Amino acid sequence: MERPVNSARRMVGARPANPAPNQMRVLHLLVTRGALSRADIARQTSLTKATASRIISDLVSHNLVREVGLGRLSRGRRPILYEFNTSSAIALGIEVRQKECRAVVTELDATPLRSYQLPLPDKSVTTLLAALEKLVATVRQEFALELVGIGVGIPGIYDYPRQMVVLAEHLEWTQVELARLIRERLNLNVYIVNRANAAALGEKWYGAGRGCDDLVFINIGSGIKAGLVVGGNLFWGSNGSAGEIGHMTIVPDGPVCVCGKRGCLEALASTTAIVARFNALVRAGKAQPFPGRSEAAAELVGREELLAAAQAGDPAMLGVLREAGTYIGIAVANLINIFNPKRVILGGLVSQAPPDFLDAIKRAAELHAFAIPWQAAEIVLADLGQDAVAIGAAALLLSAYLEPSNNTLSLALSDFGPASQPQTAASR
Ligand SMILES: [Zn+2]
Repeated sequence: MERPVNSARRMVGARPANPAPNQMRVLHLLVTRGALSRADIARQTSLTKATASRIISDLVSHNLVREVGLGRLSRGRRPILYEFNTSSAIALGIEVRQKECRAVVTELDATPLRSYQLPLPDKSVTTLLAALEKLVATVRQEFALELVGIGVGIPGIYDYPRQMVVLAEHLEWTQVELARLIRERLNLNVYIVNRANAAALGEKWYGAGRGCDDLVFINIGSGIKAGLVVGGNLFWGSNGSAGEIGHMTIVPDGPVCVCGKRGCLEALASTTAIVARFNALVRAGKAQPFPGRSEAAAELVGREELLAAAQAGDPAMLGVLREAGTYIGIAVANLINIFNPKRVILGGLVSQAPPDFLDAIKRAAELHAFAIPWQAAEIVLADLGQDAVAIGAAALLLSAYLEPSNNTLSLALSDFGPASQPQTAASR
């Protein structure tokens, strides 16, 4: 993931203080269409040639646009082509976890340049803000390029109209105005996004979802969440909570879920559920306690031990994993039937667990999916590992930043909502 930074990139002029909407239109055109001549730009924006020319010169002088050679013409002088200069500034993508933050610095097309890991001693928002402040100072020092903003992937539900983290169970946050707090502390553009949505986009652009406009990304951890990409764009739902597949009912009279209902996927197949199921087998004398544990404290306590038991080939743990995989496979079949995706990308526990787990998921998905959408679907493992969320969060920030309807440069320091077109930054 790490790539040395070209020192030439350190040379950058100051960005125009408050560019007009026409400048954003020209920039957006170059982001989405690739290299164009001044005449092409004038034609496609309906600006006069003189205005388009002046805007191009201005953007070139600010290093946002650069010359890339000559175009073709059947007769006459060949025109100079211009393209968006992705190296003229940087963005920061963050994933907030329970005990740490993952961060990625990217170019303006979300190409990752360098990764960081920051410990979070506790789950408080104050601790997170202090860590981000330190990170931003480090990044500014290391890159000496303008930082256009920060995209933040959170393990929770974000309500865009209210600009509020409604609920982040695992961080114990409710009703947190995270965007406002970050903006006030760091004086930067902010984009907040649910973690699974961010990872879905990260995988689409730079991972296992490349070249795929219809995909489902599923993260399997202490929660089970999906990010849905439909027709190239994230599908948010009406209040930002699409993809909460952890609460899909799989067994109507099954175990009670954290949400209070019964038989949700999360209550059957999350890491917490897998550990609980294994411990129940130990208590019932149907499984051996975890090695090194006394009889009195025989129970597993978390994901690390779960994986250790699975990798040691513990037959009871492999059985529990196959059972959980079957439940997840049923959910995958339902998603395949509803969305007809080209790819289902699985991340989290499935990347580290023995292959029995993935095999069980695939078997159940095939058994339960309707034949026609099943034929189109491919089930694969996520590619970006630890950085998927941070890259996706940065990409969303950049899409909003470069989207002319948002006119985000003049809306500096405001939040960006899901109305932006996420494909703009990196689909070129
Ligand atoms: Zn539930």
